[in-house]
Amino acid sequence: MDKKRVLITGGAGFLGSHLCDRFINEGYSVIAMDNLITGDLKNIEHLFKHADFEFYNHDVSKFVHVPGRLDFILHFASPASPIDYLKIPIQTLKVGSLGTHNLLGLARAKKARILVASTSEVYGDPTVHPQPEEYYGNVNTVGPRGVYDEAKRFQEAITMAYHTYHNVETRIIRIFNTYGPRMRLNDGRVLPAFIGQALRGEDLTIFGDGSQTRSFCYVDDLVEGIYRLLLSDYAYPVNIGNPSEITIKDFAEEIIKLTGTSQKIVYQPLPKDDPKQRQPDISKARSILNWEPKVSRKEGLKITYDYFKSLTKEELYHNDHRDFEFFKK
Ligand code: UDP
Repeated sequence: MDKKRVLITGGAGFLGSHLCDRFINEGYSVIAMDNLITGDLKNIEHLFKHADFEFYNHDVSKFVHVPGRLDFILHFASPASPIDYLKIPIQTLKVGSLGTHNLLGLARAKKARILVASTSEVYGDPTVHPQPEEYYGNVNTVGPRGVYDEAKRFQEAITMAYHTYHNVETRIIRIFNTYGPRMRLNDGRVLPAFIGQALRGEDLTIFGDGSQTRSFCYVDDLVEGIYRLLLSDYAYPVNIGNPSEITIKDFAEEIIKLTGTSQKIVYQPLPKDDPKQRQPDISKARSILNWEPKVSRKEGLKITYDYFKSLTKEELYHNDHRDFEFFKK
């Protein structure tokens, strides 16, 4: 049978590993590529038994070689939490810029279609609400988030350039806050932070007064949106996210209720350039992809909580084994 072959960078990460699952289930031959800085083999361990699954331990910021044919490339390699890109800012810039350039070159050479993972961070701390794709954003280039935001903005620019000047088939997804099983417990993101704290019997840390908003999308909905965008013929950026918006304070209350923890909320300073509000305008995804999220926060949080509950005590306390200093060398 003539299987389509797909390369998924960041394949051992949270989103990448869910994409590997989806493409294996759809009958593709899948290559996951990851340098395991923030990814983890345990996310894809179950896939190694498939004849159609391969894993390459490689940093896409360096020249990428894949033998044989390639039909699709999904570029999902990048640190994606504020804590990570504070720890490894240069790698964050390199994977979004040099890494994207390498993968666009690979797509061109293989005549493959490439989808790149962009982010709502291209809108920065938005002054337009909700955020449509036409909004150009409000980004501090030299702030702590600049390394991620600007790498992703460059990524979009170079992707469009390869589309326009080299006729590469490109797709750009702007991902809004997404959650689900396989998030790293202490990558600093708000959901694993709160659930981890509840499970360890610690107080829940709200940054700022908790009035800032986010809109959380369950991972399966996101993966469906990515799948549809990849197979569409639309080359401009498309927002994928769940428009159901909530303040971080109310979100903390939901987690307290879900976990039944008797811990309280404590307040810590708001990190610099933390966006005050975020909600995707998904009109384009609705009309072009006939997509909208299906999983409510209630359902999604329950599944995610069950996943975190299933972790061992060791994982709960020492989930982050990564040696960032090692990777900086
Ligand atoms: N946040 C919080 N407590 C935490 C971790 C995060 O209040 O322990 C806040 C953070 O300041 C931000 C929101 O939750 O306003 C979402 O943070 P996250 O890092 O998950 O994503 P991002 O800021 O990139 O949307």
